[in-house]
Amino acid sequence: MSEPTTATRIDFIAPLTGILVPIEQVPDPVFAQKMMGEGFSIDPLAGQLVAPVAGEVVDLQQSGHAVTIRSADGLEILMHIGLDTVQLQGQGFTPLVAEGQQVTAGEPLIDFELDFLATRAKSLLTQIVIANSDLIDSLTPKSGLVNAGQDVAAQVTLAAASDDDGAAAAPGAPAGGGTTAIGEVLIPNPTGMHARPAANLVNVAKGFDSDIQLEKDDESGSAKSIVSILALALAFGDKMTITATGPDAQEAVEALTRAINDGLGEDVSTMPSGTEDTLATAAVAEDASLQEPEESFNQPKSEDPNVLLGVTASPGLGIGQVVQLRHEEIEVQETAEDPAQERANLDASVERSIGELNELQQRLEAEGSEEKAAIFGAHQEILRDPELLDRAYKGIEQGKSAAFAWRASYTGFATTLEGLDNEVLAGRAADMRDVGQRVLGELTGQRQEKAELAAGTILIAEDLSPSDTAQLDRSKVVGFATTQGGASSHVAIIARSMDIPAVAGIENRALDIPEGARVVLDGTAGKLQMNLSDEEISGIEARQRRIAERKAVEDAAKDEPAVTTDGHQVAVVANIGGADDARDAMQHGAEGVGLLRSEFVFMERATAPSEQEQVDVYAECSRALKPGQPLVLRTLDVGGDKPLSYLPIPTEENPFLGIRGVRVGLEQPQVLRTQLRAIFAAADTGAELQVMFPMIATIDDWRRAKAIFDEERAASGVTTNVPCGIMMEVPSVAVMAQQFAAEEGCDFFSVGTNDLTSYTLAMDRGHPKLAAQVDPCNPAVLTLIGNAAAALHAQGKWLGVCGGVASDPQAVPILVGLGVDELSCSIPAIPSVKAKVRAYSLEQCKHLAAQAVTCSTPEEVRSLVPMDED
Ligand code: PEP
Ligand code: MG
Repeated sequence: MSEPTTATRIDFIAPLTGILVPIEQVPDPVFAQKMMGEGFSIDPLAGQLVAPVAGEVVDLQQSGHAVTIRSADGLEILMHIGLDTVQLQGQGFTPLVAEGQQVTAGEPLIDFELDFLATRAKSLLTQIVIANSDLIDSLTPKSGLVNAGQDVAAQVTLAAASDDDGAAAAPGAPAGGGTTAIGEVLIPNPTGMHARPAANLVNVAKGFDSDIQLEKDDESGSAKSIVSILALALAFGDKMTITATGPDAQEAVEALTRAINDGLGEDVSTMPSGTEDTLATAAVAEDASLQEPEESFNQPKSEDPNVLLGVTASPGLGIGQVVQLRHEEIEVQETAEDPAQERANLDASVERSIGELNELQQRLEAEGSEEKAAIFGAHQEILRDPELLDRAYKGIEQGKSAAFAWRASYTGFATTLEGLDNEVLAGRAADMRDVGQRVLGELTGQRQEKAELAAGTILIAEDLSPSDTAQLDRSKVVGFATTQGGASSHVAIIARSMDIPAVAGIENRALDIPEGARVVLDGTAGKLQMNLSDEEISGIEARQRRIAERKAVEDAAKDEPAVTTDGHQVAVVANIGGADDARDAMQHGAEGVGLLRSEFVFMERATAPSEQEQVDVYAECSRALKPGQPLVLRTLDVGGDKPLSYLPIPTEENPFLGIRGVRVGLEQPQVLRTQLRAIFAAADTGAELQVMFPMIATIDDWRRAKAIFDEERAASGVTTNVPCGIMMEVPSVAVMAQQFAAEEGCDFFSVGTNDLTSYTLAMDRGHPKLAAQVDPCNPAVLTLIGNAAAALHAQGKWLGVCGGVASDPQAVPILVGLGVDELSCSIPAIPSVKAKVRAYSLEQCKHLAAQAVTCSTPEEVRSLVPMDED
């Protein structure tokens, strides 16, 4: 190892005549928070910008308001005249140099009309920042008046470089291994990718380990370098390719694409449709007949001023008065004197927070709220994350206060999670911010006091933290709506478990509803209504009473079997994600479990669960059921829309047609083998364990999976019978039900209508434009199910349905008539599904099914069965 070389100091000559201003005081967070890098600002008194050091002009913005010079030491010095001056589109600026030109210190670069800018720009403050600040140790600005080309404006010390091998790693080189992912976007920013959006883009890119290159035409540059981005001169509507290589390549491309489409901090909502989305969307939009009016892809919007739309987070109806919940910003000091003291403060605050969370977890456990308690267990894990703490410690070492460094660390992580195009992981950003705020409150002593709520409150907030939600007083809060979040956030899960109606992702104007306004929150329909007359409110109250009465009748019979009026019994079982659900299912009258989505045991972890951990979970689920009841364990179903960080699946062009479901287990048999061993080890714990393989498409898939099953069963020595079945979610299995049923050792089938419908109609169930058509009541899907049931019954095999349609009251009699033997539903739906079965005779069901398969549309099918009157 050779010694590091000595640090070098460079004087920056004043590039302008004017008054020096600390960069932190610039009224633009992109500069003030140093998102572009270290620097200083000058309030100009004369209209000529000169070079602060000698170097090459590496970028000159087309609009002439910004220029970057690369010094001989490699420093990239970006000079940005005024704020928001990109919008002047060149007016008032006269560049005096060209890109590629060498300049000496003090050489004029740009003339600008000071008086003109003074009336047109947001501010004349001119920023000089080092875009690659990682190359410097410090930048110390002078103060007061400086003269362009004469006085020293700042001193910069270069970071001491190690000359170990003479060749430093290329900036942005990937942190070892990984894959390559590629995406294409159109630039939606009206004034192109100028400094502010570029800085935001760099910020997003730096959250990833992968090397990320941006390419326009034949030019390319690193997404982690603001200068490279500016040099690409990306204008509005330009097509750009993003190529990421490294361990988190796919996530990086997705996050960057999303950030760019969202405008990188700029309002791009006024763009013509087709420009705000990816290239593929734009290509479609070229056909005017396909072009949609301006609409947000993600957020539903209502035409009615008195109705606000969102998505269902928790079903139910609430009538009440609005309370707007706003989180106060916690003030933090940026710097601190004593890093050791700051670190000790941070450690103590983290420990205190872990203690509080532990207390909260234990209290909830004692109250029997296991699911909520587990969330606060997970929060303690977040606080033990070494990466989260390390990032904060690094900030402290650089002179930041503990609060500042901590906030930067957790918000950075949360932003990265939010940027991922994955609803589940994005939902975890709220958890990250929640624990982050908790520690920040401890550190600063600024704990947010909770206001007393009156009975009949409907809360509205941008977002609620999981802690806020778990501590809501159910006797006071009758519903809540948030402008952020989705159906699978922890907040939604908690709301469902507390039976509080909730709507997520509601239109932003919800935040403007006056305090005390009377509103109706319809969690089931995902909407909020306001300005209702007394008469309308009474109508809704009457509807609430009817729903409650019906629910009471259904609940009273929840433990009775589901038998049609003419004596045909249908098994009604539950879809679960773990042991809490298994217990809950029993409380709701489930006769077993028709689908344990075992991937839940694997998700939200840094590493795969060990064999023993899996045994424990499966056995706990089994013990929650009554002895002998079925517990169908679906083997790990990841890939497609369910990624697992520790089980990398190479990036695919069509992940839903790629390595997902059982194909992952066949590609990586050790994962499947470990899981099967765990299932066999838990086989004697009460319930009848059954194994089901997801995404079987061919006879070969089945035979290979079954061979592994047989080998592991033999090796385990288990003597208990463990039936083995197939999930029918690829149309080929339904069409060839006869051949599949004839396979040796194939005991049962369960239809995954969610995927079966997608694959039958070739429409992604999550697609923003197509999802509404992905209706399992489509006659094509029902025909597949009916034919398959007949083929299976002919060979003595049973057929269940575990997709969402099994919980749909309108579909229940049709499914029974098609010959479905078991309905595996979401837990809260069990009593009403049972009630539905009891309301029909098998003859009536068969008649409905026969009609349904001759219908032309799903709407016609649905019109056959009246909706519940509510
Ligand atoms: C289905 O596809 O219907 C199903 C139950 O599986 P999942 O929703 O978990 O993909
Ligand atoms: Mg599926």
